[in-house]
Amino acid sequence: MAPTPATASDATSRLDDLYDVASAEPIVEDDAFLERVVADAELPVLLAALAAALGDTSILRADLRPPLTPIDTQPHPHGGMSAAQQEAARALALSALATVRDKGITEVGLLPDETVRAILAFLSAGQESWIPMLKHELDLAADKGGRPSWSFAEVAAGRDFPVLIVGAGVAGIAAAHRYAQAGVPITVIDANSAVGGTWAKNTYPGVRLDTPTFGYSYSFAQRGDWPHQFAQGGEILDYLRDVAERAGIADRIEFSTRLTRLRWDETDARWEATTRGPDGAEQVRRFAAVVSALGQLDRPHIPDFAGQELFTGVTMHSQEWDHSVDLTGRRVAVIGTGASAYQIVPAIVDDVAALTVFQRSAPWMLPAPNYHHQVSDGFRWLQRKVPHYAQWYRLWVILTGIPGRAHTVTAEPGWTGAPLSISRKNQELREHLVARLERQFGSEPELLAHVIPSYPPGAKRMLRDNEVWAAALLADKSTLVTAGIERFTERGIVDASGVEHEVDVVVFATGFKPSDYLEGVEVVGRHGTEIHDFWDGDTRAHNGVTVPGFPNLFLVYGPNVGGVVAGSLHFMLERAVEYSLDAVHEVLRRGAAAIDVRREALDRFVAWVDEGNRRMAWGQPYVHTWYQNRHGRVSQIWPYTNVEYFDSTAAVTESDHEFL
Ligand code: NAP
Repeated sequence: MAPTPATASDATSRLDDLYDVASAEPIVEDDAFLERVVADAELPVLLAALAAALGDTSILRADLRPPLTPIDTQPHPHGGMSAAQQEAARALALSALATVRDKGITEVGLLPDETVRAILAFLSAGQESWIPMLKHELDLAADKGGRPSWSFAEVAAGRDFPVLIVGAGVAGIAAAHRYAQAGVPITVIDANSAVGGTWAKNTYPGVRLDTPTFGYSYSFAQRGDWPHQFAQGGEILDYLRDVAERAGIADRIEFSTRLTRLRWDETDARWEATTRGPDGAEQVRRFAAVVSALGQLDRPHIPDFAGQELFTGVTMHSQEWDHSVDLTGRRVAVIGTGASAYQIVPAIVDDVAALTVFQRSAPWMLPAPNYHHQVSDGFRWLQRKVPHYAQWYRLWVILTGIPGRAHTVTAEPGWTGAPLSISRKNQELREHLVARLERQFGSEPELLAHVIPSYPPGAKRMLRDNEVWAAALLADKSTLVTAGIERFTERGIVDASGVEHEVDVVVFATGFKPSDYLEGVEVVGRHGTEIHDFWDGDTRAHNGVTVPGFPNLFLVYGPNVGGVVAGSLHFMLERAVEYSLDAVHEVLRRGAAAIDVRREALDRFVAWVDEGNRRMAWGQPYVHTWYQNRHGRVSQIWPYTNVEYFDSTAAVTESDHEFL
């Protein structure tokens, strides 16, 4: 199929938001009702939304500015406002809300820049340096950015510049949307049979977000009516399908089509792409540029346990859940205690006859009592009645996530608590979380000893805990095995202490191969260099996007851009898309054939992220996690904030690149 020249499908829409609702519902409720709603509201968000709706920032009084108290485990309500601040803010908000009602205000449009700045300064405790990044997330800001400011028709009319986008998951949808908005001709392929990437593949029992839903959406698709605080897997998948529809890209994706080879043709500066389609037939097509949105966590890792082939029961990886297998009354083993196992175990414990969990390292769990909660009725009312409330709430989640919990996992020079903690703050967090474990598992001292992690909090991904994990492990039918796995037998698994655990089903919740970027795709760049040979197991890309010697190849959500204790994933990958599109713009504007990042730029970037990661819990030499590659370098994680990534990707610097 020839690439379709796209049109900027939403060029006429009001805001750069596929979910923009031009008008809220009129408020008809009385003061007593409004008082109850205000009591339930997140005050900084409500004040921001009301200031925007009224065009009056005087309610954002300096003395009511939330202090943004750093998050240790859970976000502080109202950004840490004192009780007195909250009381005054509620009174102001109530009166402003009544004014919105009385004046019949149901709409808010693009805000004057001084209003945007005043609101963002109020919300961010005066962090001036955050404002450009925050505007990227604020669709009421006239200079929001994100949407391409140029069009292919203006810059390169008549030029043959087809672009291949590989993947239609969270990153691929963002890429396809932005490239389409610029009018760049795109072909989108995905090896799966539907959009959604990881959310289409991970359908195991209990699958849901373990980061707040409102922070997990695109800046250009700010859905407001999410049902859950932490969305269920199917809800995210529905959203992704819906975004692809609204963006006009859903029916342009070639599904069941896998990229197997890319070869850079130096003569005419084209990527020759070999794909295998649904019928198994290979096709070779030529593209001016390639955007790889293949994702980090989609290649299952199943350890090579001895005797696995002997086992006569059912086996499945968490990502390849076999829904035809009924677990009711079966004896089930789950290997692993990471984020996937943490959701699977409580979801199946009631159904199975016996549950055996094989744990190599205990996970750290952060308290999250609202983990399974629906969005409150008060929130729903505000979302329907106060113009843009949910979008301000989304911005607030992203804003408070800028520093996130990074301060709790940053190493303190000279700290002597290793390997259990890395700083005073980290030690305090450890003690707080251990006290929770003691409360949860106190009735079973032997079990308690096994569920206290022996590494610093934050060294591996922390999980959200609403007590269901402990309840599942404490159930009479559950056994936690920590002795390690020696071998499989016909009937089950023998642990390192020689005990055989007979089971009917084994679930491998053993994770992925995140550091093997572009695994299964041969990528031959300039001078015949293959990308995996260049990386030699140590995946590196400038800004996580470009690799020297591989011109016009852009990785979205590539190495070293994953956030774990701070920041929005969607922001990072949208920014990578925009950066790649800026690079394409530079190529077209100059009439060049291609752009290739210089090795010095890559090395400088890698040295910078390495320096940051060395200071974090996961960068300590005694820690082992999937964040590191086989050389021990942390190649998955971004150690800084969203703001540094915004700045780092602000421009495609000429001196860092060669134009071909
Ligand atoms: P994971 O975090 O890599 O966990 C794999 C588990 O398997 C770990 O407990 C690991 O132990 C264990 N394991 C690996 N090899 C083993 C072996 N040879 N013997 C015994 N145990 C072994 O994988 P995951 O749970 O699938 O999660 C991966 C990532 O996916 C998460 O960190 C997160 O980024 C993402 N995820 C997100 C969500 C969400 O948002 N809702 C849900 C699930 C996953 P060690 O800890 O000792 O290595």
